[in-house]
Parts: sequence; C-alpha cells; structure tokens
Amino acid sequence: MKKISLGCIADDFTGATDLANNLVRAGMRVVQAIGVPAQPIEADADCVVVALKSRTIPAAEAVQQSLAALRWLQTQGAEQFYFKYCSTFDSTAQGNIGPVTEALMDALGTDFSIATPAFPDNQRTVFKGHLFVGDVLLSESGMQNHPLTPMTDANLVRVLQAQCQRKVGLIDYRVVVQGEVAIVARIAELRAQGVAIAVVDAVSNADLLRLAPALKNLPLLTAGSGVAIGLPANFGLAPSNTASALPPAQGLQAVVSGSCSLATNRQVQAFAQAGRPALGIDPLQIVRNPSTPGGNTVARTLAWAAPLLAQGPVLIYSSAHADTVKLVQAQMGIEAAGSLVETTLAAIAQGLVNLGVRQLVVAGGETSGACVQALGISQMKIGPQIDPGVPWCHAQTAVAPDGGLHLTLKSGNFGTDDFFSKAFSQLV
Ligand code: ADP
Repeated sequence: MKKISLGCIADDFTGATDLANNLVRAGMRVVQAIGVPAQPIEADADCVVVALKSRTIPAAEAVQQSLAALRWLQTQGAEQFYFKYCSTFDSTAQGNIGPVTEALMDALGTDFSIATPAFPDNQRTVFKGHLFVGDVLLSESGMQNHPLTPMTDANLVRVLQAQCQRKVGLIDYRVVVQGEVAIVARIAELRAQGVAIAVVDAVSNADLLRLAPALKNLPLLTAGSGVAIGLPANFGLAPSNTASALPPAQGLQAVVSGSCSLATNRQVQAFAQAGRPALGIDPLQIVRNPSTPGGNTVARTLAWAAPLLAQGPVLIYSSAHADTVKLVQAQMGIEAAGSLVETTLAAIAQGLVNLGVRQLVVAGGETSGACVQALGISQMKIGPQIDPGVPWCHAQTAVAPDGGLHLTLKSGNFGTDDFFSKAFSQLV
C-alpha cells in the first residue's frame, strides 16, 4: 500500500488548496481529496489534504466529519495530522475550531497541540496571542461584521478557551525567536501547568520556520496554512520541481468564471481586451429561456465555443459588477441566482470537457465546488503555483478518460489581472 506521512483536514475547499499549495512549495507531493474518500489514495503522495465544508456547520457535525477524515487518513498511513482553518480564525463561540481540535486530540490520545492562524505572507500575524490582519487587530479588520462568524475579539487565547474544555495557553514571540530548543522547553512547561493547547505567536516566515522543528513529535497540529511552510523539512523533504510535477498537459483550453469579485472582473476584462473570445451569461436570460430548443443557455454556449476552441482558450463568464449582481439578486433572490448560475456554469464546464477541453480554469470558490462535482472529481494532485494560493492541479475523471484533466480553481480575489491567459502559458 502507498503510505502518506502527513494527513490534513481542512474546513473548507479553497483553504485546502491554499494549504496543499504551501506544502508542495516546501517539497511535499500532495493530493487534495474532496470530502472523505471512499477508496485508498490513487496517486503517489507524501500528504493528503481532505477538504471538508465544516467551517460553519453545527459543531457536532463538524466533529463527526473531521473524525471520519482522521480515520481515513490513518488508514493511509499518516503519522502526523494537521487541522487547517481560516487565517482569520473564523469561528463562533461554539466552534468549530475548539470542538474539532479536542475531538481529534481525544481520538489520537494526545494531551497537547498548538493553534496558530499566522500566515505573514498573507498579512496574518500573531503577537502576544493577538491576531493582526495587516496593521489592525482582527476585531477591527472588518471581520467583526462577518455575517456567519463575527470575530469581535483578537485575543486568540480567550477566543479558543471559550470553545474548549481543555486549558488554552500561549507560546509567545520571545520563546519563538529562540527556536526549537526553547519552544520544546516551553511546551513541556505548559504541559506541566495543565495547558493542552497553545496559541503560538509568529510575526514572520522566519518564526514559522523556527517553530516547525519543535512540532516534530506532536501527533496533531492545528493552524492556518502558514505553519505548513516548515513541515516538509521535518520529513526530510526539501523544495523541488518533482513535488509539483504533473502529467504533461494536452487538449483544448477554457475558462469558466462565476466569481463577481473585483479581481475576477478585472481578469475577465483583461482577457477580452487581449482579443480572446469571451461570452457573458446573463442569469436573467437563463430564466427567460428554460431549455427550449436553441434557447438553452448551456447548448447555445457550447455551440459558440466549439468552433473557437481549436484557436486557443475561450472564456465563459457570469461575472458582473456589484450593481448588476444586486439587480439580478433583487429579481431572483440571492440564493436562487447563485445556485442557478452555479448549475449552469458547471454544466457548461462538463460540456467543454466533452468537447475536448483538458485544461480548465475555474474562477470562484462556490463555482469551483459546483464544477468539480459536475466533473465527478474526487481527488486532485497539486502542481505548480500560478499565483500565490492558486496552483495547477491534475485529476483523473471518467469524463476525461484519455489522461485526465488539468484544472485550476481560483478563489475570487486571487490572481493578477492577466491570470486567465497567464495560467495556460505556465502549463507545459
Ligand atoms: P468568489 O470566490 O468570488 O466568492 P463564488 O463562486 O464563491 O466566487 O461566488 C460567486 C457567487 O455568485 C456564486 O454563487 C455564483 O453563482 C453567483 N453569481 C455569479 N454570477 C452572478 C450574477 N451575474 N448575478 C448573480 N449571481 C451571480
């Protein structure tokens, strides 16, 4: 049996990719699984990241799903486990970070773990147990107004303690800067004081790299994606091109974009301005033309794309500016508009693959989820990074039986303006 070293459980889809990307860049061969797989891992890998959607579901369900992921990762041979959450520590007073951490600790029979969302490259730093987003405290960063997980306290020891039965403590920056020996000694000291989970300060990548060797013997780590930059070295791995190697790219190229973020709107504009073929989809037209012959949005779109694909990448987008989106939402309802567009774009993605597309860019977190599901993808090998947090991936799927599909799933605000063209030029 193929055996992995590190088993990761991520509480959302794009967060899983972000973590996987950091691990690959530091030398690990990583597969991302969408949900808990029913089968053993398909590819050769050092690590599997199981992507759940457990950030805001009831705590008991998040615990149950995370334990199922843990059990599967154990069957794949993982020796250390990593629970990945958001770098803004998104949670409610009930969890789910605390309850999931404690359930995993119980299952692994371990009395100590760490918690740090620090990711300095992404402007998330932890100092004296307080989380900063850029130059401001978490509680002043806009996250205090988040609709599902308002973060009104930047003191992570206090926030996590409110979600935990076990005692929460702190490994502060004065210990972290001294490196491995001091951190290990501090862990022993906290353990002796009855502390079970320590928030760890980190204000730079150097802090995260100093922290990593001290984590070698902990069965469970909990963190954002930042801690991952130092972990592969613990398994004797160093950055290399082989970690991110994917099968050679083949087939036709297309972009499907359902994100309405500012960055994605600029990317759509840049692609069209470069003279590339781009077709916009108006959600209101989808409703007005229910699948009547010739009026079906999916069929019409594919008929438009079919003759163009041979000349290079095409773009199909529902992306629109905020005012237009608000008008659509006012007429259709926010959720109804969202799911109608997602279903339509996912069917278009499937149709494009049937037309021979084997290199697919998808923009939008929810849009990506819908496309991956429609394409029957359950595992993806993580490849080279295109832009921070956005790697190319490769998946085997029944809809592309001739060597699988290269795809990249870009969450809304990621990527430079020329992302939709640049992505293909980076794939060889
Ligand atoms: P992001 O990563 O930018 O948040 P998502 O794909 O997660 O992107 O979310 C965008 C949501 O907006 C999806 O539910 C999508 O179906 C919906 N949507 C896309 N285009 C439109 C539009 N023109 N009008 C209304 N909703 C739209």
